[in-house]
Amino acid sequence: MKLTSAMMLLALSVSTSYATTQSHSQLPSDVASTTNSLKTYHILADSAQHSYQLAHEYHDALIDRQNRFVTLLLDEHDADKLRERGHLVVQVESKQVLKNQPYLQQALQQKTTSKLTRSTKLSNLNESAGIPGFACYPTVEETYQQAQNIAKRYPQLASWRSIGPSWQKEQGLGGYDLNVLVLGDNSKKRKKPKPILFMQSALHAREYTTAATTLAFANYLVDNYQSNADAQWILQERDIHILFVANPDGRKQAETGVLWRKNTNENYCADTPQRRGVDLNRNFSYEWFAIDNGSSGEQCDQTYRGPVAASEPEVQAIERYVRSLFEDRRGDLPTDPAPLDTPGLFLDIHSAGGMILYPFDTTYEPAPNEPQLKQLAQRFAAFTGYRAMPAVDLYPADGTSLGLGYSELGVPSFVFELGRTFFESCQDYQQEVLPNNLQALLYAAKVAGTPYITPQGPEVLDLRISGAGSMAVPQGSELTLQAKISDEFLLAPDNGPIEAGQAIKKVRLRVERNGKKFGKKVKLSPIDGVFDTPEEFISHTLDTRYWPNGTYTFIVQAQDRDGNWGVKATQQLTLDNNAPAPVSAPEANFITECVYGGCALTATKEPTQGDALTYKWYINDSEVPLHGPSVQFWGLKGTQTAKLEVENNYAQRTIVEKSFEMDGPVLPVTNVSYECEKLSCHFDASKSYDPDGSVEFFVWRINGEYLSSREAILEYEFSQAGEQKVEVAAIDNEYYLSVKTLLITVNE
Ligand SMILES: [Zn+2]
Repeated sequence: MKLTSAMMLLALSVSTSYATTQSHSQLPSDVASTTNSLKTYHILADSAQHSYQLAHEYHDALIDRQNRFVTLLLDEHDADKLRERGHLVVQVESKQVLKNQPYLQQALQQKTTSKLTRSTKLSNLNESAGIPGFACYPTVEETYQQAQNIAKRYPQLASWRSIGPSWQKEQGLGGYDLNVLVLGDNSKKRKKPKPILFMQSALHAREYTTAATTLAFANYLVDNYQSNADAQWILQERDIHILFVANPDGRKQAETGVLWRKNTNENYCADTPQRRGVDLNRNFSYEWFAIDNGSSGEQCDQTYRGPVAASEPEVQAIERYVRSLFEDRRGDLPTDPAPLDTPGLFLDIHSAGGMILYPFDTTYEPAPNEPQLKQLAQRFAAFTGYRAMPAVDLYPADGTSLGLGYSELGVPSFVFELGRTFFESCQDYQQEVLPNNLQALLYAAKVAGTPYITPQGPEVLDLRISGAGSMAVPQGSELTLQAKISDEFLLAPDNGPIEAGQAIKKVRLRVERNGKKFGKKVKLSPIDGVFDTPEEFISHTLDTRYWPNGTYTFIVQAQDRDGNWGVKATQQLTLDNNAPAPVSAPEANFITECVYGGCALTATKEPTQGDALTYKWYINDSEVPLHGPSVQFWGLKGTQTAKLEVENNYAQRTIVEKSFEMDGPVLPVTNVSYECEKLSCHFDASKSYDPDGSVEFFVWRINGEYLSSREAILEYEFSQAGEQKVEVAAIDNEYYLSVKTLLITVNE
């Protein structure tokens, strides 16, 4: 007999319920009456992968996804349908859901109002008023205004053009143009055309974070063009085309707080106007309605594909434009790969769920370029903390933008699913979604030259000139060039380990002064003296005593033992003998303020004019940091650790790490014993308990089938001898649960 037990830990963290509740009060009355019958349910998942599938399948009802369950807003009919399909469906009191993140955010807000945090400063300074209740997300009009301002302020770097009308505009019912911001410095004549990065966002209207993120990316590039070597290199070497709002009519609906996904075409589902329209991401021509269940033929469904391929003006405009940008590099057979030197990159930015999806989505057959697509997806995952997977692993879909970008044209194409929820709180957007995705988008722009090749090489990460940073310094200042070199900058997928990288072979440094070659190329050596592992650290002292004043660009690139060169990383250095001497390293310290189930961490030193500071927080060894002088996180009762990294604008860094106790919910403890007489077994989970409340009921599952019993004692007769899998979950009064799994063998 074999016996294994596994404790599955579950933490409820529901970030949207506040937004959802708030938005319902703003719904038109006919919608409000239907949403009144909606209730909140947890659907248990077998695995993290399964929870992603559920989240995607029920995206139109999704409130939250955790590795062991998803939280959905459903009516009873839909909940019953899920039960019939064998899912475990637990209804959750909405006040229990409200007890989580939104409640905590408010509680923490009150506790920390005395301090002016960065996010409140930002929203006060923000030129746009934003979507009601979400000041960090500009409206359609504000997005267009900001993009227009970019084109006006930087005419040599940006232009703003219409690529076609929305459905309402075409019909003369108001509406908008679909507008693209084109970024790139094209002042120098070139022999070859520049590689193109195309990205679109808000194709699905309600995905608030997406257009704000791409707009922030555009602003970052132009605002840092003079001072940041990477931004400068990107705009000189790439053309970037951004369609911020791919579905402006639908977006306008979503701005009123409605969970609107499709466009607003009134010809479909006319009898139920709040469900009308076409799902633009099922309306693309390539493999439109090519598979069963890849889209819906029902007009009122959220994935309605439209009557014919590319029936919608938005999709027509996108197809026309994207085909004009990229040459078709892929053959017509599904098995034809695009050539490895194919330039360009196609990104479709969606939310939510924390995923990086790559082709295919119509078939489980791997895409012919799968090894390369997967490698780049895992790089994006490492920047964002998201999971990389083929799109079909979530849910088969047809007529999507991935079909246009990759299947039709052979351009490496990816869908980002940002954050946790459609109406992400501004706190989460600013501390996590935006800063981490910005890094991924900058990386995308850099690799867009040969995106199937360059991600195979090692990455130069966290390159900085400590002692100078972005500031001008006098000759002979104490400066060190520092970086981490990694051939394993990947995030493991849920279903497997990270593939091992190759050892680093070579790291080279090239310096330019005022745009011209300066001195010889330098081979950099690692801190530990020898390149022999896939991850190495560089610390190179710069002797600038005899360097003339001017602006220098440092270009670092690394090669692995297989001969692959990675992406170039660059840093700018300005030597100016009239500049003041660098300030010393910043102080790093923080205070913790906790409420039940959550904490706010606030750095004690705020940034000042002469000493701009950046803050990165790693909570309980998280894969990616949170950002900003004050951050919030949620969790269970117990010891928490937080590492704060403070960097000043001279790229000097101080790190502090602290542990502290947090009060919060405690998981129930599931205990189960059993006795079998041949095929008849008696299971007893009555010794289960909840340290901070009571166990309310149990859920039993045998060999994958849920039972209807909610009792602690279960009598069960197996139909045949052999190994059996028995899972029991104890669920407490706060809907936290822990699962115990038994593998038992019964004999006849
Ligand atoms: Zn979407």
